Amino acid sequence: MMVKCLICNKELPVDMTQIIITEGENKYKSVCCSHEGSQELKDLMPGMNGKEKLELINTMEFIDDDADGEVCNYVLVADNKINRDILHKIGFSDDYIREEGLDADGDTIDISPIAFEYCNWWFGDYFGDNEDEE
Ligand SMILES: [Zn+2]
Repeated sequence: MMVKCLICNKELPVDMTQIIITEGENKYKSVCCSHEGSQELKDLMPGMNGKEKLELINTMEFIDDDADGEVCNYVLVADNKINRDILHKIGFSDDYIREEGLDADGDTIDISPIAFEYCNWWFGDYFGDNEDEE
């Protein structure tokens, strides 16, 4: 049995490693794992829009940041299971986090590049949209 990748239309054997996006009880979509971390895959993730993902990010405890009101260099959260689970839930895998170097120091994860996909501003204790910025 073959299924089609929803992004590139490539035929995939069902037993091949692939990302399954579940949608309700019996509906699911298949995507090849090569799209992991891609914008196309994030767009397919059901149930949560960017605002809801940002709300989840804002539930994390931010332990350090480096920002001067114009440039935000990093915002760190603890590298623990709770925060990783949140990141998985909004579509970012451990591989993606490692490849982007977000967990480079071993104790923390720099959450800012992920958060800025859904907003444009770090307010010092939460991420959101600054209406003055375009
Ligand atoms: Zn594909």
